[in-house]
Amino acid sequence: MDKHSTIPFEVRSPSIAGMGAFAINLIRAGDVVIEYIGEGISKEESLRRCIDGNNYIFQINDEFDIDGSIEANLARFINHSCAPNAEAQLDGEHVWIIALRDIAPGEEITFNYGYDLDDYREHPCNCGAPNCFGYILAEEFWSVATKPDAQLSHPPSQPEQEQFAASPSD
Ligand SMILES: [Zn+2]
Repeated sequence: MDKHSTIPFEVRSPSIAGMGAFAINLIRAGDVVIEYIGEGISKEESLRRCIDGNNYIFQINDEFDIDGSIEANLARFINHSCAPNAEAQLDGEHVWIIALRDIAPGEEITFNYGYDLDDYREHPCNCGAPNCFGYILAEEFWSVATKPDAQLSHPPSQPEQEQFAASPSD
């Protein structure tokens, strides 16, 4: 896989969610987009930061994780998508963001954040992909997890309430 000597994207908005990373030039399938770097932290510290709501932590191995919420980690601007064009690959103690297909100039770069089943309901997804699962969740869990619209498939007596509300008052 080829590695870019410079950052192949620019950070700007609007995007799927706040700031996003947009390809400057064509990025070929299989290319390294960028390394996801961060502060090496112990499992105990990682758990503490996750409970504090830090969403930038990558599990590396049984010994340590990395916290990507540092200024130098430009990969933190890459948004999650349920139909991503890149993916995070763990290589030893390094995390590489790799293009899954050719990414055209101006296209937003995304990868699946790969959250597990523990607390995915706290992370709604609005990525806009036709197959959007509705939560930020690793695709391997989609078949066993509950989609948000599944909870709305039997709306509780909604038509009756609308009848009351529809009575004219003027
Ligand atoms: Zn989505």
